[in-house]
Amino acid sequence: MLCWGMLIEHKHPPMRLQKLTLAGFKSFAKSITFAFPAPVAAIVGPNGSGKSNVAEAIRWVLGEQSLKTIRGKRGEDLIWHGSPRTPRLGRATVSLTIDNRDRRLPLDFTEVAVERKIFRDGTSQYFLNGSTVRLKDIIELLARLGLGETKHNIIGQGEVDHILGASARERREILEEAIGLRLAQLKKREAERKLEETDRNRREIEGLIREIAPHLKFLKTQAEKAEKREATRRELEEALGAYAAREGQAIGEDRKRIERDEEPLRHNLAAAERDSADRKRDIAAAESGADDAAELASKEKLLEGLEAKRRGLEREFGRIEGRLESEPQSRPPGWRGLDVSAAESALRPFVASLREVMALDAIDEIRRRVSSIAAKIEALLKQWYHEASRPGPRPGGHALEAEKQRIRRDLHVAEAAIREARKNLAHARERASAREQKLREYWQGLRQQEETASSLRNALQRSEFELERVRTRAAELERIIGDSGLSPSDLKPTGTRYDTVPSEELRRKIEKLKVRLEETGGIDLVVLKEYSDTKGRHEFLTRELADLSSAEKDLKRLIAELDAKIERDFKTGFGKVREAFQHYFRIIFGGGKGTIEYVALRRPKAGMDEELSEGEGGEVTYGVEISVDIPRKRIRGLDMLSGGERALVSVALLFAITAVNPPPFLVLDETDAALDEANSQKYAAILKELSKKTQLILITHNRETMKVSGVLYGVTMGDDGISKILSLQLEEAEGYRNR
Ligand code: ATP
Repeated sequence: MLCWGMLIEHKHPPMRLQKLTLAGFKSFAKSITFAFPAPVAAIVGPNGSGKSNVAEAIRWVLGEQSLKTIRGKRGEDLIWHGSPRTPRLGRATVSLTIDNRDRRLPLDFTEVAVERKIFRDGTSQYFLNGSTVRLKDIIELLARLGLGETKHNIIGQGEVDHILGASARERREILEEAIGLRLAQLKKREAERKLEETDRNRREIEGLIREIAPHLKFLKTQAEKAEKREATRRELEEALGAYAAREGQAIGEDRKRIERDEEPLRHNLAAAERDSADRKRDIAAAESGADDAAELASKEKLLEGLEAKRRGLEREFGRIEGRLESEPQSRPPGWRGLDVSAAESALRPFVASLREVMALDAIDEIRRRVSSIAAKIEALLKQWYHEASRPGPRPGGHALEAEKQRIRRDLHVAEAAIREARKNLAHARERASAREQKLREYWQGLRQQEETASSLRNALQRSEFELERVRTRAAELERIIGDSGLSPSDLKPTGTRYDTVPSEELRRKIEKLKVRLEETGGIDLVVLKEYSDTKGRHEFLTRELADLSSAEKDLKRLIAELDAKIERDFKTGFGKVREAFQHYFRIIFGGGKGTIEYVALRRPKAGMDEELSEGEGGEVTYGVEISVDIPRKRIRGLDMLSGGERALVSVALLFAITAVNPPPFLVLDETDAALDEANSQKYAAILKELSKKTQLILITHNRETMKVSGVLYGVTMGDDGISKILSLQLEEAEGYRNR
């Protein structure tokens, strides 16, 4: 009799599965817990008692999605369906507790309980230590344990040669998972999914960038224009500011200076004008008093008359003296002679008239007057001839002497009058000359004042011109500022780079800047805002694109690395599995050769065989072929194997895989069913060996298998159709087998 203690290995691997609880799952209507304190646990019991339900519970709680592999058609097939005495249940629950003291699972718990529930409506829920999780989380968790979808570590009833019947590609998948590539593959798949997503995002963003690029370009030229304009405007502000400050100051100073200079001019002009007026008044006073010319003329005329009278007296006197001397002289009879004095008196008016005529300009008038004067003289001459030829008395000698005396007296009188007249005339002349002298002085003074006034007026006018020029400059400055479109408050008067530029140059610069400003046109603020927005968006997208590209690169590198790792690990693992397979094969078959081969396959097109066929299309992939050679029995190839032999080959491969990369646990549901006694012993020996590397949960009727178990659970089913368990000793277990 084998007891528990004897069977328990002292040096056993960390046990992964601690316990399994079924409640309402299939025939386990009542909650039942299997504890797994030993590396090998065997579940025994009669046919139909519910043993396989236990293996299926493990498969199911770990996320199995295929109902077929757990012998169900619908989800509710997994729930206790009731018996006459025990009504059916609404849900089934399976919970598997995993030891996590080594923190192989990335959860901060020493134990991790995976739980799955299903309800009659088919909905299923997962929990990790009581918290709801997704199936994805469970799958990831299992991947951490080196388990994947194929669950090669759970071999269901009748599935032992499943691996032999599987396709080359399926075998490869089983092997990949068994070798422990699951995690890397998951990572790779995730990376590929991300890569696809990234690629999609990248294309989307590229599209967006392409879309906004031309608009951005347009906006950019606008913005650049605006910037240029702004720079020009600033430059203009500075230049104009410097110019306006300088020019404004100059204008102010000039204006002040001119006004200051004008002040004495005005003062002096007023004085000169006052003086002139005084002079004019003096002159007027001086001139209004006497008519010197007329007085002189009358005095001269008087003198002339007196002198003429004297000359007449002297001639008469001479004639009388001559007559007195020449008395005996013969005369024509009747000639009375001509009285000279009378003649002179008669002719004198003609002289005066002729003088007047001489003063005339109009020739017709002169002619008329001269001819009238000539006619009058003719008439006089005629008269005289008539009078002279008229007989008359001739004065005698006494009469002549008396006449002579009278004339002499007259002459004396005339001379005295002449002297008097001359004296008067001289006085008058002196007076006139004195007055003239004074007037000349007045005039000179007046002229001087007027000249002074005139030159002052000229100076004032010049000053006015100058002021006008200053005003023009001020207006020009205002115009320049006004034209610039800048407000005077924008101008920066000092501290600019233009402070030292000469004014003329500055002026030219300002004109140039104004022209440039006009050429650049106006700034649309909306466009600027849009540019900054669009640019921001473009930059954002470009950054995104760069991020995506770098992410893409990273992902591609990761995928390549994972590919390389998968391939490397697969090759090493594959080589090891092949070796182990050969090893177990020889043990089980007592020689011969069992090998696995890595072969190229073409991924099948729809409806085609997936084995490689030359020249056919499709993507190249790889698969695993199994070949056997048992010379002793002349067996070459899988087809020639018996059922038991197929099971043995499968077991050899399963053990090989398990030995190379031990899964955390192995569930074998009657994989030993087809073995004879000799092979059962070999099988048990290998199990014992494997139990050092992995936890075993065995469902069996086989005594040899039971012998290697540390824990035995008996499963029974009473009339109520409910599975129950009891811990057993080996003999009891054997008892079930022999029933
Ligand atoms: P064997 O040794 O012959 O392989 P076993 O011990 O593996 O038998 P199982 O196949 O696990 O037995 O058990 C099948 C039993 O479970 C059957 O009796 C079946 O009626 C019962 N069963 C399956 N599904 C349900 C369910 N939903 N409700 C109740 N009982 C169920």
